[in-house]
Amino acid sequence: MPVGSTATLISTHQLAPEELMKAAVVRDFRQPLVIEHRPVPTPGHGEIVVRIEASGLCHTDIHAAHGDWPIKPTLPFVPGHEGVGIVTRVGGGVTRVKEGDRVALPWLGYACGTCEFCVSGWETLCAKQVNTGYGMDGAYSEYAKAFAAYVGIVPAGLDPFDAAPLACAGVTTYKAVKASGARSSDLVAVFGVGGLGHLAVQYAKIAGATVVAVDLTEDKLAMAKQLGADYTVNAAREDPVQAIQKLGGADAAIALAVSPRAFEQAFASLRRKGTLVFVALPADNSVRIPIFETVLNGITIVGSIVGTRKDLDEVYELHARGRTHVIRETRPLETVNQSIQDVLDGTVTGRIVFDLRDTAVAEPLERQLTAAGA
Ligand code: NAD
Ligand code: ZN
Ligand code: ZN
Repeated sequence: MPVGSTATLISTHQLAPEELMKAAVVRDFRQPLVIEHRPVPTPGHGEIVVRIEASGLCHTDIHAAHGDWPIKPTLPFVPGHEGVGIVTRVGGGVTRVKEGDRVALPWLGYACGTCEFCVSGWETLCAKQVNTGYGMDGAYSEYAKAFAAYVGIVPAGLDPFDAAPLACAGVTTYKAVKASGARSSDLVAVFGVGGLGHLAVQYAKIAGATVVAVDLTEDKLAMAKQLGADYTVNAAREDPVQAIQKLGGADAAIALAVSPRAFEQAFASLRRKGTLVFVALPADNSVRIPIFETVLNGITIVGSIVGTRKDLDEVYELHARGRTHVIRETRPLETVNQSIQDVLDGTVTGRIVFDLRDTAVAEPLERQLTAAGA
């Protein structure tokens, strides 16, 4: 298995090989991730341990690894909130899942279950939430611990490499399309057709809308077309605002591009009474939105954060029925740093999903350690 040029290996000597796992760890916001040996976690009350098979690379993991946001993760940590795998151990009090079940570890790793948001279908707004791969170690790892109550249940027959991106990119855009209020007569503009956007296009089509996809490269726009986009606009070559206004203006625009400029263009592409959904979370944390046009045109601006467990069930149900396609590229975890660079360079079509199956910890890693003289 190839080892990424900037990834290194660190050994944990006290534990037996079967007690060790491989994980990609952020130790410094300005340094590449490091592939390490870490102890396999043990489940506490209400917790499970999952043998990860597939782990998607969400752009949020890049923000986490770079410390891009106002609230930063505590170092060191393991990113990854699109993990799918098999339950290997269950802690006390766990009845929702059992050993052998396939589950997904989403961004919402834990919520209190009792606050006004948790009890009203808005668990994603719980102030006590803990986020997978941010507030607790995530799925860039052969094993990961999770709270049993908050994992997604992956239906039998669903490919784990599809289920992984659906656990964040899928549920987030499914919910964002709901938040946009998209209806069959609407024009929906999707700004950014990357990991999230390629699924947003499909959910907007499922809602019956006409879809215009905006991105910066022809490859991504060709994919959007294949996935059902009715129109595409290359914002590197033409003004998306003009192009969308020529179509009558968007009833809803979904901002998925990691660029405040794209948010502003999404705003300006709306027609009267339009809705702008904020989803992307660029490090540069502000946009300029004109007050006058917002008021006079009756514009709605709404923030949308992932989705609930129920939303994820619906996402999996749609996929099981063949209504969605996940575009993805499978890579070994050792490529993590190059993979991050490729996402930042915009050269990835769809999602990168790390393959963590059958990379037995002891043998290959020990061989690599010996080779590395450790
Ligand atoms: P991605 O890198 O896969 O996709 C972003 C896409 O935007 C790329 O295709 C890129 O080419 C395109 N793009 C960049 N600049 C553009 C511009 N000016 N105009 C048009 N397109 C442009 O990233 P992703 O994994 O899809 O995540 C997107 C963002 O959403 C990230 O900021 C991430 O943190 C955030 N996110 C938010 C939530 C949420 O719940 N709100 C959930 C997941 C991810
Ligand atoms: Zn995500
Ligand atoms: Zn709560």
